[in-house]
Amino acid sequence: MKKIILLVLSISLILGITGCSNKEITPVSRETFALGTIIDFKVYDKDQDRANKVIDECIKRIKDIEQKLSVNIEDSEVTTVNKNAGKQSIKVSDETMYVAKKSLEYSNITKGKFNLTVYPLVNLWGIGTENARVPSQSEIEGVIRNIDYKDAVLDEAKKTIYLKRENQGIDLGAIAKGYVGDEIKKVFIQNDIKSAFVNLGGNVMAYKAKLDASKWRIGIQNPLQPRGQYIGIVSVEDKSIVTSGNYERYFEQDGKRYHHILDATSGYPANKGLISTSIITESGIDADALSTSVYLIGLEEGIELIESLDKVEAIFVTKDKEVYTTSGLKDSFELTNEEFTYKN
Ligand code: FAD
Ligand code: MG
Repeated sequence: MKKIILLVLSISLILGITGCSNKEITPVSRETFALGTIIDFKVYDKDQDRANKVIDECIKRIKDIEQKLSVNIEDSEVTTVNKNAGKQSIKVSDETMYVAKKSLEYSNITKGKFNLTVYPLVNLWGIGTENARVPSQSEIEGVIRNIDYKDAVLDEAKKTIYLKRENQGIDLGAIAKGYVGDEIKKVFIQNDIKSAFVNLGGNVMAYKAKLDASKWRIGIQNPLQPRGQYIGIVSVEDKSIVTSGNYERYFEQDGKRYHHILDATSGYPANKGLISTSIITESGIDADALSTSVYLIGLEEGIELIESLDKVEAIFVTKDKEVYTTSGLKDSFELTNEEFTYKN
């Protein structure tokens, strides 16, 4: 069987289009690699040294969060929780607790399709690693038996996390980049930055407006074309724009694509007819959790969920090249690619 790993890195699912209105000040731009992806900063400040120092501080903060939350780091708090599944509860930092609690919230909302305890399934498929493969049905069944977010005991008073059964594990990959975006925003606020733009591999944080007070224009990646080609543009200020899709982290076997957003109830990649979902809202952690959640629950339930939330908007792209947006995006989203049909 021929197996091709097409892409290991998840890079830009969305790109910012910075117009000329910030041109009076050249941004300090920097690219760094963390959280398994490329992170791209543009910070606008008259004092370039200061902007550079702020980026340094952001990168330090990112590494600090990665050290706690990564399943790829042997002694991270998350790995330690997973190694001790069924054995003992593990003391964690406030931030690991906060992110895990948020993940639990979305596990409840989606009735376990989005799932804090999805790690054994992510590990079994290995998507994004050189061990990616289609597991056997019995392997999948063996693993999903162990997936139950109700088995994750988060004790906020004691600051511990405990997984009730051996072979269970938590994974914060669907939510942690959004949290990192929120923490970067705090660094910008503390340093009185006036305007900035950060892309964390598909999680965009458009900080404040552009310097001339106009909105950022963010291109939504065409899921069927190479990076940098858009289906449309959304105009925003002070928002996170987070996209989940089937086109960055996947492999193909026997002509079939297997992507990394796994339905924790079926054990297979989500297959609800969507190829990309984008969430636009102020909070990065909610945007990240919701983009993965609506990808998993599908168009109808997804629109219903987003419309029920205040100040949260979404863009859905189906495999039939149809684009749906929630009601709050009517004036700020513009479909620019004629191959796609705007259904609203
Ligand atoms: P999203 O849609 O936001 O999330 C998809 C990811 O969520 C999957 O990759 C999986 O991890 C998880 N997931 C899948 N199904 C479910 C489900 N049903 N419920 C909940 N979660 C689910 N990548 C590397 O290659 N090497 C690294 O060393 C590495 N380190 C990382 C460290 C941290 C702290 C983080 C946050 C990410 C890291 N990554 C790394 C990237 C990570 O593996 C994912 O690719 C990335 O977080 C997925 O983000 P996304 O925006 O593409 O997709
Ligand atoms: Mg996500």
